[in-house]
Order: sequence, then structure tokens, then C-alpha cells
Amino acid sequence: MKVTFPHMGNIHIAAKIFLDDLGVDYVVPPISNNKALEVGTMYSPEEMCLPFKIMIGNYIQAIEQGADTVIIVGSCGPCRFGEYCELQMNLLKKLGHEITFIVLDSPRDVGKKELLERAGLLVKESGKNNYSGILAMLKGVKAIELMDEIEKEAYWLAGYEINKGECKKLLHDCRQKVVSTKDSDQALKILKEYKKKINRVKMDSTKQPLKVSIIGEIYTVIEPFSNQYIQERLMDYGVSSNRMLTPSWWLKDLLGKVVKMNSISLRRASQEYLPLGIGGHARECIGEAVLAAKEGQDGAIQLFPVGCMPEIVSKSILPTISKDKDFPIMTLVLDEMTGQSGYITRIEAFLDLLERRRETSHVLFGN
Ligand code: SF4
Repeated sequence: MKVTFPHMGNIHIAAKIFLDDLGVDYVVPPISNNKALEVGTMYSPEEMCLPFKIMIGNYIQAIEQGADTVIIVGSCGPCRFGEYCELQMNLLKKLGHEITFIVLDSPRDVGKKELLERAGLLVKESGKNNYSGILAMLKGVKAIELMDEIEKEAYWLAGYEINKGECKKLLHDCRQKVVSTKDSDQALKILKEYKKKINRVKMDSTKQPLKVSIIGEIYTVIEPFSNQYIQERLMDYGVSSNRMLTPSWWLKDLLGKVVKMNSISLRRASQEYLPLGIGGHARECIGEAVLAAKEGQDGAIQLFPVGCMPEIVSKSILPTISKDKDFPIMTLVLDEMTGQSGYITRIEAFLDLLERRRETSHVLFGN
């Protein structure tokens, strides 16, 4: 068995630590890139959403390096994601690749026993016992929590840093260093070191950077290649950005769902505008927009792939929130045809608008 998995932000760091610790053979696909998108687009049905296409590209690039088993997480409600695994399996089969899929579905959907059995396949392959499997998993979870915290700090502190580019450089160095080791304890040590380093970055607390929330469909929010590295661009502009959706948030939300205690603040915040889950993370997107306005962010950017059904619904609700809360929200819809220059122009125009609103409110209120 040679395992692979699709990219989604930093998830490969946790997966690598987990698999290294278990001693299972694996291939990390090349970081999502134009080639993966090109290959994925060529073989996927045209109407499929962008995450599907990039994932197919990831699989094919990993299969070229010998991967024969894909680990993928399961459904997030009534949208195409629930069909991804079946469709991807069939598509790869048609292309002549007999690939095994291990689908880690929510325990609410498949039951705890079935989920443990599926996860147990990897432990069995490693020849280790369940205890070692649990330890390896806990290390992977710890790693993704640390990586998410480092990223969150870096994206936010970039607006306050004295030495321009320091947060971005630390983030890049951290990602590079942590994947260069095959020792899971060493990897965790590196992450802890970088967490300290990022908190020691010299700040100018008198700065008042623009503050922008990134909301929308989970894959395009988390996977930087799919959103053309939007948060890194915002770092370059000296803007502080944040997002609630991260792999560790997703994990906590998944576990919380078992006892209906997941993302309570988001669900409460969305209650007035979208009280029901309609698939994907539409409800979370609405909740995040409401919270971002309440927390005093300057604006929010909604991201989603062309044809994403749940986010089309949230897009239709966001103008009402924007009007009710006097809070600017811009939507960017992404697909394989999204050109870089038009995309950048829209982001810059939105930031200009936020700046002008700030200036106007200073003139109006004299502060
Ligand atoms: S949430 Fe949207 S983009 Fe993601 S799988 Fe569902 S339809 Fe596709």
C-alpha cells in the first residue's frame, strides 16, 4: 500500500506526521499547481466544482509517483462533496488506475465502528497496534493545531509588523522546515519553535491596518492555490486577515456534530439569516459574516468555486447582511479560468474602498 491524499492547505503536514509515525509508505503530491489544475480539468466533467478538479490533478501526480491508495474525508451535507469519492474512483478507473479509496466519513453518517474500521486499515498496514495508531493520530492533530495557530498569527500580525515581510518569511520557512523531517517528534518541535518565533516578531501597535475576514466555501478558503494565495497577497498589502475555517476547526466541528455541540457561536450568528444547514459551509459563511461585522473588521471577502450550490445561496444573503450591518462584503468566484490580473484588481479596488470608508468615518466623527 502506498498512500496519498489531496492537498488542502497545510493538511499534508499533519498527514505526513501521522503516516511517518505509523511507518506507512506514502506519497505527498506536489503542492497544488497549474499542472495539477490542467490535468484535473482535462479529465473531470466540465460542470464539476474546482476542488474536484484540483484533487484529481493531485491524485494523478501522486499516482505517477507510485501511490495506489487515496485517503479522503467524507461528505459535508447535501452538495457534490458527498459524491466526490464515488465519482473520483470511477474517473480514475476509466483512466486505467485501480485505486483504493479510504473514506473517513463523519461518525454521524457511517457510525463510529465503521469509521474506526476504515482508519484501522492504515494501522493494520503498518503492523503496529491500535495504541500506536492513536498516538500517531494525536500527533497529527497536534501538528495541524499548531500549524493553524502559526498561520493565524502570521496572517493577522502581518498588518502590524515593523520589518515588512517578516511574518510571511517565517510562515514559509516553517512550512518548508517541518516537511523536511521524517521524525514526527522533531516536526512537532519545529512547529513549537516557530509558534514562539511568530509571537516574537517586532510589532508596531500604533499601526491601524485594514482588517479583512475571509469567508466562503471551505476548500477555496483553506487551499491557497485555489484562491490564488489571497491571504499572502493581503500580507504584502499590510492588511491583517483572518478566517475561521481551518483544518483544525473542521475536525472540532466534525467531532462536535456527534453531540450537536459544534460551532455554536457560528450557528447562533447565522440564525437570523440562514437558520438551516443547506450543505457545504453556507451557514458558517453567513455566521462568519455576521461575526466579522460585530467584531469590527473592515470588510469580508467571500470565496467560492463556480457552480458551488451552497455558496450561491449564501451569496444571495450576504447583500442583506452588508446593508443591515453597514459592512462591506465582496464575493470572488473562482474556477480554472480565473485570471490573475483581474482578480488582483478586484482585491485592490475592495481594499481602496475600505480605506476610503475609514477616511470618511474619521472625517465624520473626527477621530
Ligand atoms: S461546497 Fe461547493 S465547491 Fe465544495 S463540493 Fe460542495 S458544491 Fe462543490
